[in-house]
Amino acid sequence: MQHGPTVADQAALTSGNDFWHTTAAAGLPSITVTDGPHGVRLQASEDDVVRGRPATCFPPAVATASTWDPELLRRMGEALGDECRAMDVAVLLGPGINLKRTPLGGRNFEYFSEDPVLTGVLATEWVRGLQSRGVGASLKHFAVNSQETDRMRVSADVGERALRELYLRAFQHVVTHARPWTVMCSYNRINGVYASQNHWLLTEVLRDEWGYEGLVVSDWGAVADRVAAVAAGLDLTMPGPDDRGDRALAEAVADGRLAPEALATAADRVRALVERAAAREPGEYDAGAHHALAREIAARAIVLLKNEGGVLPLSQGQSVAVIGEFARTPRYQGGGSSQMTPTRLDDALGAISESARVRFAPGYGGEPDDKLIDEAVTVAADSDVALVFVGTTHETEGADRDSLELPAAHRELIDRVAAANPRTVVVLSNGAVVLTHPWAAAVPAIVEGWLLGQAGGSALADVLFGRSDPSGRLAETIPLKLADHPSYLDFPGANGHVRYGEGIHVGYRGFDAREQAVAYPFGFGLSYTSFAYGEARATPSQDGIEVRVPVTNTGDRDGREVVQVYVSVPGSSVRRAPRELKAFANTPIAAGETAEVVLRIARADLAYWDTRLGRWVVEGGEYHCAVGSSSRDLHTTAVVEVIGDDARVPLTAESTVAEWLADPRGAELLKREFTAIDGPIARLVADPSTISLMGSLPLSRMPAFPGSPLTAEAVAELVAEAKS
Ligand code: BGC
Repeated sequence: MQHGPTVADQAALTSGNDFWHTTAAAGLPSITVTDGPHGVRLQASEDDVVRGRPATCFPPAVATASTWDPELLRRMGEALGDECRAMDVAVLLGPGINLKRTPLGGRNFEYFSEDPVLTGVLATEWVRGLQSRGVGASLKHFAVNSQETDRMRVSADVGERALRELYLRAFQHVVTHARPWTVMCSYNRINGVYASQNHWLLTEVLRDEWGYEGLVVSDWGAVADRVAAVAAGLDLTMPGPDDRGDRALAEAVADGRLAPEALATAADRVRALVERAAAREPGEYDAGAHHALAREIAARAIVLLKNEGGVLPLSQGQSVAVIGEFARTPRYQGGGSSQMTPTRLDDALGAISESARVRFAPGYGGEPDDKLIDEAVTVAADSDVALVFVGTTHETEGADRDSLELPAAHRELIDRVAAANPRTVVVLSNGAVVLTHPWAAAVPAIVEGWLLGQAGGSALADVLFGRSDPSGRLAETIPLKLADHPSYLDFPGANGHVRYGEGIHVGYRGFDAREQAVAYPFGFGLSYTSFAYGEARATPSQDGIEVRVPVTNTGDRDGREVVQVYVSVPGSSVRRAPRELKAFANTPIAAGETAEVVLRIARADLAYWDTRLGRWVVEGGEYHCAVGSSSRDLHTTAVVEVIGDDARVPLTAESTVAEWLADPRGAELLKREFTAIDGPIARLVADPSTISLMGSLPLSRMPAFPGSPLTAEAVAELVAEAKS
């Protein structure tokens, strides 16, 4: 007879062996898990858990999201999978898909967007690509981990609609479409309960509703109570070893505080993961080819924000002033667990020098330095064009930012160089939004270069010289000022709580709802060519809506348009954002050509979360599908009638008169009662001019009024009848 693992072995399996390995127990070998997400950071030496062995540093998520190209994300995932195979890594700890609730988020560079559909679609392809190589992903950080301040304790207090429609939506999309091998729970609490101990989140939502069958791993150090965590549905606690916790689990099983099946199931999921990983073939990768891929993705991530008077693209042989230390010493990734050692590092100064006559000036050190600025001004004044490389100096896991401003030295440099050379191009390096107002007015061109990974320098040169047409689009709004942001008044919270006061109005949804001006809207990005939209047509189908639109490249260069569909439901019975991204297509269109672009909106993506019914509901009615090149540049709208779900809210004694009257069966029953028994209240309710007075009265309260047409018994009977 075969025996399963002992309780002690089961407990041992559910905690790590060290920082990066699972425990070998019950005949199972140990496997390696490592960060992630934009490269493989395999610990290089025993005594340094931070520094990794060289591997390709692909662009971080802030950049890959700006490509709006699922296909690129899939290829990046595949390449990462190949590097994992070459380094014997079973699970890569990514992607990080938390919503960018605030532009101050310290890890925004590791996350995709302020929009859950864009996030979900892109991350799904990343996971598919990685896992196609037999390497597991770890979808993180589940959930509502949108800030670093007090990240290991803070409770994200968020309403159910925002939770479902915004913060969980991308997770749901990736879990159901790509089935990541693992999901990593976050550090924080959600509405008071730690993610690691949250039965509702880890079991009811993730497994029961979404059908997730993989393993849930803790973020590193996220588990405060192993017994509570396993009971909630957490399988693997990292890092390890945690002998005390293992013993606590065994004791809890022995004294009946923990169901033996809960521990057995967690251990079983670790076994399943290890067995799955065993199928992986060792591999190797071509570092040169991966560097080229990193360069291609980086070029596609660059967003051209402004380009007046055709300053860009630069032409070969122009005299170019390259100004700013970041051109020589690139900012290409953020700090923290994702920071890795690249295989090589391109700098923009070197790459630009290959195509132009270049003079360089560093422009800044730490504080504003007049000598450095004077030198930069002289170089700029003597050149055809001045490129000013500026940006953020530090962004890291563990700390939120306190300002969206560029450093003072960088702003002064921009002003002085722009005054000396009217053909000044600002090139930004930043992991999250920086303000462009008011200095943007002083320069004709701005290139948003994010953090672009190890090939960012050459990718920037590719775009600046027009070898690559800029086709990146903003995955987050650039506000005019921080105080405009929907999250502003409720960030970062205090005393262990952060209230998500803006509700469903996250990012552009909030700016649009309050009709606020922004510096650059969500979805925005220029190209060296131009596009014209024909008329959009939309057809409803069982599965959702299909939108078709002809788009013409009206310029004389080949390019790519990111066609975006935003849906509004003007007659909605619930509060909605004015526009929500529901589909997008990244389409190459040759100069002078027209493409018929087809976009599909899944019916599930039309739903809102009904808090009364506790489920998703697609409302019936007119859906307006606005198609365009950003959330605020919509060229054509198609209207389509969608048949709604059955969403009848059961009538109870606590339902109001108005709710009873709004329900056909309820109205019929109430009217019957009131016609049978005449009296002052019945007449008030029957009179349309007084319904607003009586409408808010719950039926249960009516019997208390003198002359009420209803007794408590009659109310109970009505409720019973309404159900039948
Ligand atoms: C981070 C995770 C990371 C883990 C392992 C944690 O501090 O939040 O994103 O995967 O460390 O390094």
